[in-house]
Amino acid sequence: MKHEELTTENRLAPLRRPLLDWFRSNARDLPWRRTRDPYRIWVSEIMLQQTRVAAVLGYYARFLEAFPTVEALAGAPEERLMKLWEGLGYYSRARNLQKAAAAVCEQYGGQFPADYDALLALPGIGEYTAGAIASAAFGLPAPAVDGNVLRVLARLHDDRSDIADPKTRQAARAAVASAMPESEADRRIFNQALMELGATVCVPNGPPRCEVCPAAELCLGRLRGTAEALPVKAPKKARQAEEMTVLVVLREGQAALRRRPGTGLLAGLWEFPNLPGTLTEQEAASALADRGLTVKAWKKKLTAKHIFTHREWHMTGYVAEVSGAGPEDWQWTGPREWADRAVPSAFARYSEAVWEEWGAAP
Ligand code: SF4
Repeated sequence: MKHEELTTENRLAPLRRPLLDWFRSNARDLPWRRTRDPYRIWVSEIMLQQTRVAAVLGYYARFLEAFPTVEALAGAPEERLMKLWEGLGYYSRARNLQKAAAAVCEQYGGQFPADYDALLALPGIGEYTAGAIASAAFGLPAPAVDGNVLRVLARLHDDRSDIADPKTRQAARAAVASAMPESEADRRIFNQALMELGATVCVPNGPPRCEVCPAAELCLGRLRGTAEALPVKAPKKARQAEEMTVLVVLREGQAALRRRPGTGLLAGLWEFPNLPGTLTEQEAASALADRGLTVKAWKKKLTAKHIFTHREWHMTGYVAEVSGAGPEDWQWTGPREWADRAVPSAFARYSEAVWEEWGAAP
């Protein structure tokens, strides 16, 4: 039978062997691939959600040095955890890591369960992450389907299904599950091999590198010339834009920070006091006066934009020297205490402005 005649369902099975061989000789040497420790694999998977490999490497090493075991993570002070996560974004991931670490300690005596459903029940672990840990750490036949796998499958099968549709993901999970290798050693790397192919060969930006792809002979997208137009993804809803005014106020060498609420976006992290809407300098001065502060000197006006998954902040910030007591929940923070307070990267422009005023680097 010619490969063109294969049905879409069985294209993954003939790809299995060439793909595994390709992975064994071409995979990037990444620290989380040198271990079978589920704790280390899990930390890498959570960090890699929404973050590129190159950006994760340093964080991963520092995190594991600080918390080498699941017990160490479970007992870590929250400020230290957040500080180590600072800059990675999506901070709920870090909180869920700690919650899951506590659950592993309490429910499983510090040993990750070698069971897909038990992994899935842990905080912050969804179908993809449970599959990734179950397969890579324990050699279980669980699929792990991320954006890379969805792209490879869409091209391999010349499939125009919308990859944003959960049904497409479920179909991909079923396809990967049905093509799972027999041996435990192969099962540990099968998901990774599909993901690696998507990350390095069947790439998301720019043309796929079909000339070096182990799927080239089987790939309907390549054979029919449709690969580059795939996968199909329905456009997302527009993000909600929020205007806000950031008050970067300095008093005798200290900057005002306050804690964000314990739930919602960037929960519990430190921020510059801010107000909804775009205020003029005069309006900002009057808002500060309402809070018991007098502007002694305006230093700078800085605009910045930060994009989250579902919203955008359009910020206008005023850097000012002030006098007065200020609200009780504002913490006057100097360079030394700054190191203990996790200020999210959404405010990076304003943190830099404060350090410039201090004439130092963070
Ligand atoms: Fe992607 Fe080309 Fe490989 Fe098909 S042959 S999976 S389009 S890189």
